[in-house]
Amino acid sequence: MTDIARLKDKFLKELKKEKSPEKRRKICKKYIEEELSSVFCSLKDLSSKERAKVGEKANEFRKFVLEQMSSAKGEAKEEKEWIDITLPGEEPELGSSHPLTKLQLRCKDIFLRMGFISVEGPELENEWYNFDALNFAKDHPVREMQDTLFVKQEKRSALPSEKKLLMRTHTSPVQVRYMEKRRPPFRIIVPGRVFRNEATDSSHEINFYQLEGLMVGEGVSVANFKAVISFFFRELFKSDVDIRLRPSFFPFTEPSFEVDVSCSLCGKKGCSVCGKTGWLEVMGAGMVHPNVLESAKVDPEKFNGFAFGLGLDRIAIIEHKVSDIRLFYSGDLRFLKQF
Ligand SMILES: [Zn+2]
Repeated sequence: MTDIARLKDKFLKELKKEKSPEKRRKICKKYIEEELSSVFCSLKDLSSKERAKVGEKANEFRKFVLEQMSSAKGEAKEEKEWIDITLPGEEPELGSSHPLTKLQLRCKDIFLRMGFISVEGPELENEWYNFDALNFAKDHPVREMQDTLFVKQEKRSALPSEKKLLMRTHTSPVQVRYMEKRRPPFRIIVPGRVFRNEATDSSHEINFYQLEGLMVGEGVSVANFKAVISFFFRELFKSDVDIRLRPSFFPFTEPSFEVDVSCSLCGKKGCSVCGKTGWLEVMGAGMVHPNVLESAKVDPEKFNGFAFGLGLDRIAIIEHKVSDIRLFYSGDLRFLKQF
């Protein structure tokens, strides 16, 4: 028996004793790195005839060990990947709705119960729908760069207002977009994101959420508006809140109002949330301006209606006593997981 044959015999005996593929792999490694390498080292002391003979046998054995090693390695891998299907699985972490999404859904639900339908419009708007059609004067200051985020366009000043693009500053353009394609009566709400060119602070963000409302038909009055909006706020705050209208100005409504809701947190007594006044400013509204109806191809002699815009962020801030509007957009889970 040659030395190599003895070595192989020893190797196979050792391998046979070991059940674990990982340990068998280690045995193979030991034979390659120690036993075989010393055989190869000793070749130089042999005669050239002997060297060729032993060298060939040693190479054959080396190949055999390598094969054993790779099959042990495969078995070890399989062993690692083996899955115990009887073990309980890892529970996936579930996300949840954003507080503003939750609020939007609650508002939507109340208006849908009153026969309103929810519609949407583009966030990238043109100047015609955002300003002109809503009766904004050509030189109205809101059209300035410091208030509105305009889109950079070549030869912009030469373009008609239908082609001048901007990020919508309110959800009101959807009023015109909706009305011009249909005939009254209408009862719609438009929830959506709007954009302003703001220096941000705890109460200002460059984007926020509005919920627009519009009801147009024959003989729609301020009394209808008060009824709809009172019902809405009582349902939303789950409390018997009062509302009051204060005269205001918006280009697209005449007359226009600011809508205040009695503070449900202190019951009109005055607290830090309502600034000791007992009232919360929550909405701008008014009767739709005849010029807006005309822009939307609705006959202002025959139809009229009301429109309102609610700031969803403002309501969420009041409800949850949030100190900074920017928290809603921070993506900070420590904040978002509280809702
Ligand atoms: Zn209060």
